[in-house]
Parts: sequence; structure tokens; C-alpha cells
Amino acid sequence: MEPGRQQEGTAPVLPGHLPIPVETRLFYATSCATAFLVAVGAIWRLTEHPDQFSLPLLTAIPAGMLFADFVSGLIHWFADTWGSESMPILGKRLLHPFRVHHINPGDFLQRRFIDTNGDVAFLAIPFLLICCFMPLKTPFSYTAALFLTSSSSIGMLTNQIHQWAHMGRAPLLVRYLQNFGIILSHSAHQRHHNPPWIANYCITTGWCNRPLQAIQFFRRFERLITHVTGLQARSDEHQFGRSISGKQS
Ligand SMILES: [Zn+2]
Ligand SMILES: [Zn+2]
Repeated sequence: MEPGRQQEGTAPVLPGHLPIPVETRLFYATSCATAFLVAVGAIWRLTEHPDQFSLPLLTAIPAGMLFADFVSGLIHWFADTWGSESMPILGKRLLHPFRVHHINPGDFLQRRFIDTNGDVAFLAIPFLLICCFMPLKTPFSYTAALFLTSSSSIGMLTNQIHQWAHMGRAPLLVRYLQNFGIILSHSAHQRHHNPPWIANYCITTGWCNRPLQAIQFFRRFERLITHVTGLQARSDEHQFGRSISGKQS
């Protein structure tokens, strides 16, 4: 039986996210608050150097967003394709949520703001701190700071944007951003949610999905890794699916 399908006369047993201990939730809250404050500081600092500002430099902002989207795709693809849930830290924090998410996407909507964003916010903090101390004296250094601030700021929102893409009716401003193609839309992300979940890995702006799909970037990368290491793509995910089927039958 396919994972998530209800057997006649029985309730479906869908996997859900793991319980989150209080200390982890405290860590998430601290990470979210710190990342937000440091991001505001980094953006504020950029506005204090109007002498460096020019229209061509603005292209660093979409370039940073594009880069963040590519990184989101790489991380998502890695979590979906390689490794095992039994791995320390990454198994529970990164791989398990994606395994659950494929079989029970609705569970993601039950997660609180800090649970959804805590880990990514924590990872974004060092990059945002660099933005706060980067030199801004030359057009090149200002452009680099703009790029890194843009990619880190949107990057830390990746899981939130992903959650919005699952909502039947996201907040109004979010829907505008989705409709204008500025962040990942519901329809673009639904293409990922067709088994075997191997399309549209990028979940920040979604801008990289089409070009990466066109050149079969992730399939080629997988073949290369299998060729070099002998590892089989998605073997842990298949095992997870079988374990869920076993619980339901
Ligand atoms: Zn996935
Ligand atoms: Zn999703």
C-alpha cells in the first residue's frame, strides 16, 4: 500500500514532526530573534552609505536572492536524496522533517513560527554578522555586502516561504509576492510534491527550478555521486516509505 493511503476500515497512520523539547524551542526563539535583529542592523548599515548607492548596484539584490534559492535547492536535494535519518543531528533536524513532509505535507502547517524558522535563522546569523562588519568604502565592497545581505536575509526566511507555499490562503502581502513571482508560489511548489519528489527542489524564490530542471542538474549530480561513491540516491527515503507502509498495513 502507498504511504499515507487509508486502508478500508482503518484510520490512516501518517507520520508527523517529532516533539520539540523546551530547550530546543528556546534555542529556536533565540536564533529567530538574533537573526532578525542582525538582519535589520545589516540592512540599516547599507542605507547609511548613500554615496555608494547606484542603480546598477541594485542588481546585487536579485542576484543574492537567486543565489539563496540555489542554495535552498542544494540543501533540500541533499536532504531528500542522501544520508540517513539515523545520522547525528542532521538526521533528526533536516532529513526526518523532509521525509515526513513528502508523505504528510499538511503536518508542516501545524509547526509554529519558531519551530519552522529556528534552525535556518541560526545558520544565517554568521553570514548576517559578516554583513554588519564588511567594509563598504568601494563600489565593489558595497556590492558584495548588498549581495550577501540580500541572500542571507531572504535565505533565513526559506522555511517560512516554503510553509506559505503550502497554505491554501497565505497572508495577503505574501500572496502578492507569490503572484509576482518574487517568492515561491503554491503552484510552483506543488510540482515538487509529486512522487518520487524529484522536481523543483528550490524553495526560496523558485527562480532556479526551471533552469536547473532544463539541464537535469540534480539528476546528473546524483549519477556522478553514485558513480564515484556507489551510494544509491533516495535509498533512505524508500526505507522510510516502506516503514510507514508497514505501520499502516
Ligand atoms: Zn522534498
Ligand atoms: Zn513542500
